[in-house]
Amino acid sequence: MNEYDSELVRSILLKKKFRFVENESNADIIMLNTCSVRENANRKIIGLIHKIRHDLKGKPVLIGILGCMAADKKEELLTTKNLGVDFIAGPDSYKKLPNLIEEVQKTKLKTFDYALSDTETYSDIYPTREDGINAWVAISRGCNNFCTYCIVPYVRGRERSRDFNGIVKEIKKLAKEGYPQVTLLGQNVNSYKDGKKDFPDLINEISKINGIKRIHFMSPHPKDFPDKLIKVIANNPKSIKHVHLPLQAGSSRILKKMNRTYTKQGYLKLAEKIRAACPGIAITTDIIVGFPSETEKDFKDTVDVVKKTRFDAAFIFKYSPRSGTVATKKYKDDVSPDKKTERIVKLNELQKEISHENNQKLIGTTQEVLIEFIDRKKEAGNFCGRTKTNKTVSFKAKDCAPKQFVNVKIKSASAFGLKGDLVI
Ligand code: SAH
Ligand code: SF4
Repeated sequence: MNEYDSELVRSILLKKKFRFVENESNADIIMLNTCSVRENANRKIIGLIHKIRHDLKGKPVLIGILGCMAADKKEELLTTKNLGVDFIAGPDSYKKLPNLIEEVQKTKLKTFDYALSDTETYSDIYPTREDGINAWVAISRGCNNFCTYCIVPYVRGRERSRDFNGIVKEIKKLAKEGYPQVTLLGQNVNSYKDGKKDFPDLINEISKINGIKRIHFMSPHPKDFPDKLIKVIANNPKSIKHVHLPLQAGSSRILKKMNRTYTKQGYLKLAEKIRAACPGIAITTDIIVGFPSETEKDFKDTVDVVKKTRFDAAFIFKYSPRSGTVATKKYKDDVSPDKKTERIVKLNELQKEISHENNQKLIGTTQEVLIEFIDRKKEAGNFCGRTKTNKTVSFKAKDCAPKQFVNVKIKSASAFGLKGDLVI
């Protein structure tokens, strides 16, 4: 989402007097588009700002903080001693950036805008993209779910969907520019709604566009997964055969405290249903370990869901309290750091084994691969791409190029990807 937002910002600024430079040592203004979802992300940004200021050695360069951290930390970012931030703009304030920057340049005073909007969708801005293979397209912004651990609703505001026709028009333009793939983005992408049109309708409509060959989306919430959506994923040939289905926790007790609105059984059933409708589909997930009061028994439920669902990959995080959230206000962060580490290590090991086993099953199969890039680090002629299930594949070939679709016979597999031979 931040990559997409940076493309919006680029487009907004390029329309004015600004231009972008390759190397930050040539910049008059440096902006960081930030994430606040975990404390670690915040810490990294603060470290990076200090490093940038240090490397600038007193050169009068303006530093701006964009995105969630601006909405989370607000003026604190401007008043922290020695941080040297000149302006901040929250996720709904990007159209004001040219004015904000001009103001700082003129007045030499720090400035900010982090007000959240109920309506801003940037539908009128066509992002300046760089990657020629996959185009990110946000179809909604904000979130209404208020999972108790999550800062997103507080820093990105209420959920609002972009207009259906505007999205389709943008993707038609992307197809003309030669993008073979789009990834539809939303914090809760599958709750998309514009009048009577819903998320499955949107996938179906986009699939009619010539030139668009693959449609990805992130991240769906398990609570908004009707049979209509499962059918579209399974039957629409352009839909990616991969679902990122955030679990967060396996224990129904913890899920309730997280306000996820599904149970362990509900999640398992949904995953089974998806697999039954679309054999071979990849399912990946997000998991938080060490949510307040998580016991060994609760953790065993998470392990159980991981074993039963046999995810293709899992992004596992240690719970970190976020300011303003219900969990921070109501629950004590009482799982010790050591316990969190123990649980994350255990789950990562288990997941690695499962990913490896899942990938090994693909040895001997032929996969349709969209070539993404030439791996120049290795010897010449090494290409990397993705299967329709979003798994990475590397293979050797002559006369191939990024954006091309090729068939690759899988010869070996690790937990992280596949290797194969080009089928001619
Ligand atoms: N909207 C998406 C992603 C939200 S943030 C969704 O609902 O899935 C990405 C991931 O960060 C979440 O899925 C969650 O696993 C993790 N996360 C969010 N808040 C967190 C917190 N306070 N501590 C640790 N992990 C967190
Ligand atoms: Fe956060 Fe939950 Fe919304 Fe995802 S669905 S962004 S985890 S509040």
